Amino acid sequence: MPDTIKYLLDESRIPKFWYNLIADLPSPPPPVLHPGTKQPVGPDDLAPLFPMSLIQQEVTTEREVEIPGPVREVYKQWRPTPLFRARRLEQALDTPARIYYKYEGVSPAGSHKPNTAVAQAFYNREAGIRKITTETGAGQWGSALAFAGALFGIQIDVYMVRVSYQQKPYRRALMESYGARCVPSPSNETASGRAILAQRADHPGSLGIAISEAVELAAQRDDTKYALGSVLNHVLLHQTVLGQECVGQMEMADDYPDIVIGCTGGGSNFAGIAFPYLGAQLRGGKAVRIIAVEPSACPSLTRGRYAYDFGDTAHLTPLTKMHTLGSTFTPPGFHAGGLRYHGMAPLVSHVKELGLIEARAYQQTACFAAGVQFARTEGILPAPEANHAVRAAIDEALRCREDGVSRAILFNLCGHGHFDMQAYIDYFSGKLADLEYDEAELAMALAGLPSLG
Ligand SMILES: *Cc1c(COP(=O)(O)O)cnc(C)c1O
Repeated sequence: MPDTIKYLLDESRIPKFWYNLIADLPSPPPPVLHPGTKQPVGPDDLAPLFPMSLIQQEVTTEREVEIPGPVREVYKQWRPTPLFRARRLEQALDTPARIYYKYEGVSPAGSHKPNTAVAQAFYNREAGIRKITTETGAGQWGSALAFAGALFGIQIDVYMVRVSYQQKPYRRALMESYGARCVPSPSNETASGRAILAQRADHPGSLGIAISEAVELAAQRDDTKYALGSVLNHVLLHQTVLGQECVGQMEMADDYPDIVIGCTGGGSNFAGIAFPYLGAQLRGGKAVRIIAVEPSACPSLTRGRYAYDFGDTAHLTPLTKMHTLGSTFTPPGFHAGGLRYHGMAPLVSHVKELGLIEARAYQQTACFAAGVQFARTEGILPAPEANHAVRAAIDEALRCREDGVSRAILFNLCGHGHFDMQAYIDYFSGKLADLEYDEAELAMALAGLPSLG
């Protein structure tokens, strides 16, 4: 076998369907509830925010959803993405493990996010939508949607968490280069933003607040919809394009993963790589250990409660049952901005409850150490979020060494870190500290969970 396997980037291998895990689950996830009536929402309740085609994908139980031709055409620019065997990392770890990684950093925005951004922009254009509002934390989602909006002629307004807006001017410049408008959140443009600013004029913002602002604006206008970059079923569905590619690529390598790993913010890149394998297992295929990795400072899967909660701070969204730290929880300022959401995708939460996946949490310095080791062996500098998956992959490979067993480990290298160099600068200068969330704040946020009684 060659030292590094790079598979043919043959566009005929781009999947023709997205894979819907719900079709293979032993029980469906709990229904989404209306915040007022506490009854299951219908398609009409979501119509102010999303085009009907995406609402249908949100609730479909079909196993396969066809990828529209124009979306596949755009995917061809960077899909299929490469799958690499991490030979040099294996050697450095002196492990019998076979480590593989899927690299999503080759997309124009540098992460997996365009997989859903392109699809969402396409369906909105088909529905005659002129403008999409959205939130972004670190700026990955905002740049992906800005790119997709430019391709499909849709104006994109991005509400960017204020602290990231100040810390990450390059991500903002990228969004503006694609033609998007980028507004620091909380802003004066919405009632929810003004309410927060009235309490605290220098509020650093949070994803929950930025979502409230974007949702509020989209709900007010017929030609404007809202887009979310993670969490929702249709977003996870679109990301399965990458995991299905892995299935084919691992077959070409004549191997099958024993362990599949992804980092989890809202759960979409993890679902993308894990769900096709989980589905195969549920249909009678080989059992795979699937590991979701999250930051210790925002540990929704490992420390959150599985309960109905709002997706945003101003409580404008429907209620979904998920692992949550409470919608008012504000995590401390660690560097993996894409992993700072208070909740977890309902579908990822559901499979965690069913015992079909494992979850673990890591502190950020251990993750950066893993990312630097990865860069020094494989040459790709991972995004701080992706470092969580790298950490878990390395730890599993080291366990293979201890156990004297060769296992195949597949992880998602969901993005590159080229816009996150300040985080690496801080790491190298010893300024990066491990952060603990405030237990009292978590207790308060959990005490504020909506009552369904
Ligand atoms: C947004 C983002 C994440 C977190 O989002 P998920 O929906 O959990 O995938 C992780 N990594 C990167 C590179 C991101 O841009």
